[in-house]
Amino acid sequence: METEGQFFYHPLENIEDVDVFYEATERKHLTKSIAPERPYTYWTIEMYDQENGFRGGGGLGVLAADTRRVAEKMDVPFVTVVPFYPQESKQVMKDGVLVDEHISKNYHDFGFNLVDKVYIKCRGELCPLEVIEKRFKNTRILSITEPNYGELYSDTSGSDHRLYQEVALGFGGYAALKLVGLRPAIIQLNEVATFFAALARLDELTNNGMDFYEAMVYTRKHTLYTNHTLVQAAEAEFTYEQFEQYVFPNIRSLAVKKWLTEKFTDGRIKLSSVSIEIAELRSGVSKLHARIANYYDLAGNKVRFKPITNGIDLERWVLPEILEFFKKNEIFDNQDILTPNFTTKIDKITTDDIREFKRIGRNILNETLKTRPDQEGRILNFSNDDFIFDFKRRFVDYKRPDLPFRDPLRLRNVLENRNAHYIIAGRIHTGDENMLRKLNHILDVVRKDDYLRDHVHYLADYDEKLAYGLSVGSNVAINIPIVGLEACGTSWMKDVANYNILISTHDGGVADASNKSYLNVSGEDDHEELNNLLQRMEESMAIWSSDFDLEYMIKLQLTNFLPIISGTRMMKDYLDYLFPV
Ligand SMILES: *Cc1c(COP(=O)(O)O)cnc(C)c1O
Repeated sequence: METEGQFFYHPLENIEDVDVFYEATERKHLTKSIAPERPYTYWTIEMYDQENGFRGGGGLGVLAADTRRVAEKMDVPFVTVVPFYPQESKQVMKDGVLVDEHISKNYHDFGFNLVDKVYIKCRGELCPLEVIEKRFKNTRILSITEPNYGELYSDTSGSDHRLYQEVALGFGGYAALKLVGLRPAIIQLNEVATFFAALARLDELTNNGMDFYEAMVYTRKHTLYTNHTLVQAAEAEFTYEQFEQYVFPNIRSLAVKKWLTEKFTDGRIKLSSVSIEIAELRSGVSKLHARIANYYDLAGNKVRFKPITNGIDLERWVLPEILEFFKKNEIFDNQDILTPNFTTKIDKITTDDIREFKRIGRNILNETLKTRPDQEGRILNFSNDDFIFDFKRRFVDYKRPDLPFRDPLRLRNVLENRNAHYIIAGRIHTGDENMLRKLNHILDVVRKDDYLRDHVHYLADYDEKLAYGLSVGSNVAINIPIVGLEACGTSWMKDVANYNILISTHDGGVADASNKSYLNVSGEDDHEELNNLLQRMEESMAIWSSDFDLEYMIKLQLTNFLPIISGTRMMKDYLDYLFPV
């Protein structure tokens, strides 16, 4: 492990070299070179990477962590700029009631080095931020933190504290880059909470003597705004008064201040509207999402997003035995890049392999479950013959965790076919009363039925380990968002790669492939979809009972989805889009 003080830093006075810019514009060509001292920078308010000290909120964070891991594998110089949260919460079920526990964390425990301090201005004061970093081979995690930074998504989404966190990441993170002597080849904004990073760049360029409009062109050409949301209207707003407290004091250029001031409507601002203005490059996270995301710029024009479907880091999410099989059979090469004729190689998969991998995965699941009792306090342990359905995802309304429980009798009948278990793993966002009510309703329904009570399990505090355990150890994954509301989703990718049967609505990244690639749930309304879901559950059990059908289904899913779920494919798509040759 690296010790503190081992690195020598060459802090930069300014990140941008104005002369280089003018030279480039004279040649009418803005080059975007990428090099170790000019890396790809990825800005995110959350990252899900527990090994490195980060517990995220969900898919957005998992994606951030996987993106860096894939860059590492592909030798792309890459820096993730993300806050290190000194506190995190954990949900536990105590006597049938979900409670939030709060844990303190120290970055030293995760191999971070303290670089130095930087300062931002907030509420009329200088606020110090510690800059810490962790280096890997060609990537690093660069973080800002301070004892009162708070938890991820603490307070409400338009609150002063959230704005402080976002400003600290943007302006503090930009100062941190200078401190460690790096210039960004590109600034990727993983959602709008990171907007202030691009603003800090615009301000520096303008303040260093670049003409405002040229600085804007330069910033726009080097900023990618990645959108994960569908409706702009749902986004929280900040007020002009809040900006006076936290944002304007950090801007040195009058022209930038003026520009930003003009973006307020009735004293309020949405960060998406300014992210659209400051980033010429814009992407959505699946084909469907990029098509239907409903965003407008301030002039009222619909915004186009380039579809770059999310992928996962296989090494992190796939059972090592399966990954070894993929490589041995040249389905993926050593850099996890899909080979050109992978489809013929998939044909080598046999039912015996599938069942053997599932046995190995089930042991891992049982191991994971030893410390995670269900709602009745039971420690679960499944045999290889047990049949497991899982529904594992953040507990939010559009993902419809309650759908199968709207007809408990039929759900019971379906499970009884093979004495199957139904595992729900889901975290409720702190303070989400609506979803807490829904969970309690599900648990009520389950408690009242003696069969369901023994076969339906709710596991609190869904996290990375549980996601992995269920992906490798269960038989069937259920993914039933209301069509049009899932931007991409990545948990289904983990399932497909680990030889689970996927039951899903045709939404998010799943809809990148045809609806014949998996067990599709559809219908005119909730009622029809529920019927269809229960039928699909029965079908999936029949498939697992037939060697022939099982082999066919797993091969079908892999053939159609491996190109989509590959994280290296995602990184290549980003590089092609950002650095066209
Ligand atoms: C993979 C993963 C997610 C992503 O879930 P989706 O519902 O597919 O977006 C969320 N949380 C955790 C802990 C995960 O591992």
